[in-house]
Formats: sequence, C-alpha cells, structure tokens
Amino acid sequence: MATNEDQNQTESGRHQEVGHKSLLQSDALYQYILETSVFPREHEAMKELREVTAKHPWNIMTTSADEGQFLSMLLKLINAKNTMEIGVYTGYSLLATALAIPEDGKILAMDINKENYELGLPVIKKAGVDHKIDFREGPALPVLDEMIKDEKNHGSYDFIFVDADKDNYLNYHKRLIDLVKVGGVIGYDNTLWNGSVVAPPDAPLRKYVRYYRDFVLELNKALAVDPRIEICMLPVGDGITICRRIK
Ligand code: SAM
Ligand code: CA
Repeated sequence: MATNEDQNQTESGRHQEVGHKSLLQSDALYQYILETSVFPREHEAMKELREVTAKHPWNIMTTSADEGQFLSMLLKLINAKNTMEIGVYTGYSLLATALAIPEDGKILAMDINKENYELGLPVIKKAGVDHKIDFREGPALPVLDEMIKDEKNHGSYDFIFVDADKDNYLNYHKRLIDLVKVGGVIGYDNTLWNGSVVAPPDAPLRKYVRYYRDFVLELNKALAVDPRIEICMLPVGDGITICRRIK
C-alpha cells in the first residue's frame, strides 16, 4: 500500500499544468522519451521551428516533438502522398508531414491565421519542402464543402491531420470521411483534451478547456461507434485518435 510519503513523491514528480505536452505519469518519463529517442533524431529544421515557435505567445498550441516524430513515422508507414492538414499555426506538424512525404507529395494546409504560418515559413523553405504545401487562409469547412462537390476529390487523400477548432471536428468528420480513401487515415488531435475528458463536473478547468470539453467528448463517442472506420486512441501529446477508413 502506498504511504503518504510515496504519494507525495508521486505527486511532486507529476506535471500539474493544463496543456502540458504529455499525459504520462511523470515529467521524468516524458523527458526520458524526448531525450532518448526524439531530440537526438529530430530534423534540424524541426528543431529550428520549435525554437522559433517557443518565442510566440501562443506556443502552447504547437505539436510536441514526440508527436511530430510519431506523425512522421505514421506517414512513412502508410506511404502517404496526398495529404491535408486543418490547423497549421506555425507549422510544426506541417513541416513533419512535408519532410515525411515524397518529393511529389502534396499537403493542402488550412488555417484562419496566415501570420503564424508565415512565422514558420522561412524555416520550411530552408528545409526545401515548401513546394509540397498549398496553404489556404480561411476557415476549413467551406473549402471542404467546395471539394465535396467534385467527385474526383472523393477518396483522394491518404492522410488528413485535424488540429483546429474542436467544436467543428464532427462537421469535419462528416466531410473528411468521403475525401479520405478507403484504407487512408484521419488523425484527430487533442482527443484527451488536457485529460479533462475524465475530470469531475466541478473540476477547476481553464475556460477554453471547459468550453471545448463537451465537443471532444461528443466526438470521441461518435468515432467509437462509426462503422466506416477503425480507430485507435493514443496517449501521445494531448491524445490523438487515428481513424482508418474501412468503407
Ligand atoms: N498543427 C499545429 C502545429 O503543429 O503547430 C497546431 C494547430 S493549433 C492547435 C490550431 C490552429 O487552428 C490555429 O492556428 C487556429 O488558427 C486554427 N483554426 C482555428 N479555427 C479554424 C478553422 N475554422 N479553420 C482552419 N483553421 C482554424
Ligand atoms: Ca494539437
């Protein structure tokens, strides 16, 4: 049985911050992963982009280095070539994707904010992968609606990463399920939503965490019963649900 002291020690090694980049049991364990397998192999440009992003006031939004490595591995495993990203910010996951897909690979990247993308763009250009990116400034939903109208876009995406407005994820899913090919993958990010998906109703949550929580809960329920996909919810970063279209 754990003594009080054990419990204190466990607590003291535990990260408390909302929006911390890991759901692991201790900071030390997360640090171990980063230092052993992620940072030593991180592409120079990814490291530079991480440093640029760290200086930005909204840096909490960036994809973590371990998740970037995971995305890169996944894209290579499935031989992704035609891809889409909703929610770019300064472009860390975008750069991971651009580096992982082949020379003639494509990324349709959408964000309502172009300024942040432009902050990371010089690093992406220096890495020599900007020719793969088609950036569209503005809300993603109308773009998807336009794309859906053309049959030739149906089943045309190998991989889609969704990391934007959580209150629209289900709206995105309704469209993306037609745009991704059978056997292709959609990744929904932040599906454990700072761990708040299991927080009691009276838990002291930050305003934005509380606001989006119900949308994330609703999405998770819907994905779990959707017969068109197989799913796998991974505790990487803030939780990512990998959906493989099966019909
Ligand atoms: N994937 C990014 C990275 O690796 O740094 C992080 C994306 S950040 C968590 C969420 C982004 O979604 C923000 O840059 C925000 O401007 C964008 N966003 C919010 N609402 C959007 C919408 N309706 N359409 C497209 N992008 C949106
Ligand atoms: Ca995210």
